[in-house]
Amino acid sequence: MSEITLKPGRERSVRQQHPWLFSGAIDHTSGDPKPGESVCVMSFSGEPLGWAAYSPMSQIRARMWSFDPNVCIDHEFINNRIRSAIQRRASYSGLTITDAYRLIHGESDGLPGLIVDRYGNYLVLQILSAGIEFHRDILIELLIAASGVSNLYERCDTEMRALEGLPERSGVIHGSPPPEHVTIHENGLRFQVDLLHGQKTGFYLDQRENRQKIRAYAQDAKILNCFCYTGGFSVFALAAGAESVVNIDSSADAIELARTNIELNRLPDKRNDWMVGDVFHELRKLRDRAESFDLIVLDPPKFAATFAQVDKAARGYKDINLLSFKLLKPGGTLFTFSCSGGVSPALFQKIVAGAALDAGVNAVILEKLGQASDHPIALNFPEGEYLKGLVCRI
Ligand code: SAH
Repeated sequence: MSEITLKPGRERSVRQQHPWLFSGAIDHTSGDPKPGESVCVMSFSGEPLGWAAYSPMSQIRARMWSFDPNVCIDHEFINNRIRSAIQRRASYSGLTITDAYRLIHGESDGLPGLIVDRYGNYLVLQILSAGIEFHRDILIELLIAASGVSNLYERCDTEMRALEGLPERSGVIHGSPPPEHVTIHENGLRFQVDLLHGQKTGFYLDQRENRQKIRAYAQDAKILNCFCYTGGFSVFALAAGAESVVNIDSSADAIELARTNIELNRLPDKRNDWMVGDVFHELRKLRDRAESFDLIVLDPPKFAATFAQVDKAARGYKDINLLSFKLLKPGGTLFTFSCSGGVSPALFQKIVAGAALDAGVNAVILEKLGQASDHPIALNFPEGEYLKGLVCRI
């Protein structure tokens, strides 16, 4: 049995049941564990604290499996974790309304480093830790049995794997390969998703509840959807009776699929506009042309991957929010988001407040938004809260 022993006083985060153990907290390792192997975590005084997956290449040197030193990290243990995660999503199985959702959300579901998204009859896996990689074969077998879905595709083609010393990899794991586009149902609307090449595992499932929320603001509105990807917010807004939507994204493939998704739902496309471009530039062009909108959506990619990048990210958020406030008609509404883990909800609100001030508008917060409930936030893992949004009215 391999062990890692923590430095004096460094067991505090383990006692608070935080799942990450950073390399700096570890005094020594004994037993020469292989990457991903289970190790017993000991306090400096020799008290066993639980079990973790060892990751020698990573700054996060070990991820806690359990805070009970008496369990065994075996087939049954992993099966229980998978089944509880699936059980928590039981309410999503109204398959005609929504058949695309996150089945397993890593640390928050007690499976550190594992993402599993369901798209109809396909599961897409992302393995982001040495511990999950170590148990990959057994996980696949248990996932198929527990979910009843037998088509598994792997999108382990993210750079994040390098942090764990894992190679990038993608392809069919089991069952049939996905078609070029899989059609999913989300709250009664349909979307084509590219599971092979799309961003993340194909679709921004975390925004599902917020796309649904936009319906209430969209009727007869002239809308600007910035960072539109495959048209999620646009489809929901048009279905709720929006007058027109201007869509901007830097990805031509995403814009093409967004147009397909409007057509797929038989929504009017005559008054819509499509721009492949950089939102930072396009917002300035719209301002210079004195355009104005009733509703603007800002859903940018992650500007800050780490805390070190927060200042730069803050400048980016301020810029696009300021320009958007200027582009709103009096009484207009801004749906603004940040998915940067390093930017807290309080900081984000402060940035948006600064943007309103500099734009010379008074704004109130109508709603505070977050990630969909199939992306749960475990209380012992606050890092799991990454998506925050504000609905502001000027
Ligand atoms: N709201 C979308 C998800 C947006 S994800 C939905 O509900 O599905 C962020 C998008 O921003 C991606 O599609 C990415 O291609 C795009 N993007 C990233 N940087 C950009 C930039 N500078 N200008 C325009 N689009 C950008």
